[in-house]
Amino acid sequence: MTSRFQPGHPGGIITKQCRDAFKANSPKRRGPNSPYWKGFSKTQGYKTIAVQGEDGLWKHRLEHVVIAEKVLGRRLGKNEVVHHIDGDRKNNRNDNLLLCSIGYHRQLHEKMALLYQIEHFRRKPDAA
Ligand SMILES: [Zn+2]
Repeated sequence: MTSRFQPGHPGGIITKQCRDAFKANSPKRRGPNSPYWKGFSKTQGYKTIAVQGEDGLWKHRLEHVVIAEKVLGRRLGKNEVVHHIDGDRKNNRNDNLLLCSIGYHRQLHEKMALLYQIEHFRRKPDAA
C-alpha cells in the first residue's frame, strides 16, 4: 500500500503509522507472542505512560489508548483503534483522538491517501 508513495511523502508516513497501529491492534497479533509486539513496545513514536494494571503490576501503555479508555470508561474492544486525526502520534489531545473500528479506520486511511493523491497529483476521485 505504501509503494504508491515516495519515501518521506507525508501521505506515506501517515499510512505506514496507521498500518503499524492496525497490525499491532489486530486481535491475532496482539500480545507478547506477536511478531509486532517488540516493534510496538518500542512505541514507534507514540507516547507511553506507566499505569498500574488490575493485577497490581505497573506497565507501560500507549498514552492515547489510556486517554481514550478513560473517556470511554472502559477498555478498548478488540475491533477498536484510536486514530490520530492530524497524523501526529504524539498529539494526544482529546480533540485529536478518534475512536473507530478497525474497518472504519482502514477506510479512513484509504480516503486520506486518496484525498492526498487528488490534492497533489490532480487525480480524479473516480479514477482511483
Ligand atoms: Zn489512523
